Amino acid sequence: MLAPFTAGWQTTDVNPLVIERSEGSYVYDINGKKYLDALAGLWCTSLGGNEPRLVAAATAQLNKLPFYHSFWNRTTKPALDLAKELVETFTASKMAKVFFTNSGSEANDTQVKLVWYYNNALGRPKKKKFIARAKSYHGSTLISASLSGLPPLHQNFDLPAPFVLHTDCPHYWRYHLPGETEEDFSTRLANNLENLILKEGPETIAAFIAEPVMGAGGVIPPPATYFEKASLQWLIIIMNLGMSLETYMQFLTDVTISSIIQVQAVVRKYDILFIADEVICAFGRLGTMFGCDKYNIKPDLVTLAKALSSAYVPIGAIMVSPQVTEVVYSQSNKLGTFSHGFTYTGHPVACAVANESIKLYKERNLVEKVKRISPRFQDGLKVFSDSPIVGEIRGTGLILNTIECVSKPFVDVGWGQSFETCSGNKSLMILYAGLGAYFGAQCEKHGMVVRVAGDTIMMAPPFIISPHEVDELINIYGKALKATEEKVK
Ligand code: PLP
Repeated sequence: MLAPFTAGWQTTDVNPLVIERSEGSYVYDINGKKYLDALAGLWCTSLGGNEPRLVAAATAQLNKLPFYHSFWNRTTKPALDLAKELVETFTASKMAKVFFTNSGSEANDTQVKLVWYYNNALGRPKKKKFIARAKSYHGSTLISASLSGLPPLHQNFDLPAPFVLHTDCPHYWRYHLPGETEEDFSTRLANNLENLILKEGPETIAAFIAEPVMGAGGVIPPPATYFEKASLQWLIIIMNLGMSLETYMQFLTDVTISSIIQVQAVVRKYDILFIADEVICAFGRLGTMFGCDKYNIKPDLVTLAKALSSAYVPIGAIMVSPQVTEVVYSQSNKLGTFSHGFTYTGHPVACAVANESIKLYKERNLVEKVKRISPRFQDGLKVFSDSPIVGEIRGTGLILNTIECVSKPFVDVGWGQSFETCSGNKSLMILYAGLGAYFGAQCEKHGMVVRVAGDTIMMAPPFIISPHEVDELINIYGKALKATEEKVK
């Protein structure tokens, strides 16, 4: 097998970790060893490893109608139901239509094609560039890898495509200037974004894409006021005037937003579409139904995948605002067709499982459950911040927590530099090379799988994780950290 995101030297044919079955928050390898799945597969098995209702939904649909397509105005009931459910469930901004794909990468490719189609329909053929952010992850197809801001996805693949630009990574801890507050940092980044737009020409920039919380690039929650600067002062004044919160939010959007320097306002100012990539954040991971709810993001387009079906079957989706839909419809009416789609667009089995997943999120109130359990997870891990090899522990909601190992005891490596990037000191790099991998191997030894990326350790357990399992996760984490500290003493 040519394994994804695996180096040749890792020889996965000889010695891969082969997982055979799953149960709740655990997976088991072919030798029967049990692991706490601290990454929920790939940030996706939100309902755990053996949810019978999802199996039943898939089986029932397989028995009834295993496949029919959604081309040429033919479709299936599960696809129609899911589209309706998604549009109703997403309330951060109004959505009108849903387009189904098989993955998050395909969904983001679809976003690009749709946005180009939209601007062609509006007679703006020059407005085609996309702005994404350094360290973002949007997938690994040609276009979605181009959008991603991770150099390994570009190197030797002749990417990124020339229409993609990257702006700053919003990681305050690593990139803030001395004395700069989080708010000032956010304002500086918004200014940088605006300068990039002005340099390229606003008439050439079509869309800005962002994950509410950056996932695979290192779990980076946005710094204060990055997306939205909902001024507390204004809130107090307006509440005193007796205005409802809803009216206040509208007021912010309509009146004050143009005078506030934050990313969302900059994008809107230049008539650039905002795409929220919710592939990791959606359906409760942050303790809100969507990441957009948490950060008051009002996107024009939304990308979904992963927890949409709790990963039991592949499915992705994009949600489209009424305004974009209308323009796309007018264009397709003119051309006679909207010539984009996949054989498996709206696959009835995938849609049936996704419908059941959403039903379960709501029925079991999993968003609230994540909100309740997240402090145990976050605070329990933040206890390890004092470790001499831990740089920052950050996260939000139940999940998305990461540890960025740094060499605190070594003054010749700047604070905030990871071992990986401390290029000034080769011997230190050699000493610490593979530290993250060592940590990951220790976790595995003690019965837990985590995501290791360089010297960062990321975790995103299933939404159904119990308090006892959170304690177990923290306990194993502590053991792995201790062993890693010993290693670098
Ligand atoms: N967007 C985000 C934010 C992701 O995290 C991912 C995958 O991790 C993708 C897109 C790509 O999704 P897929 O792997 O289903 O193609």
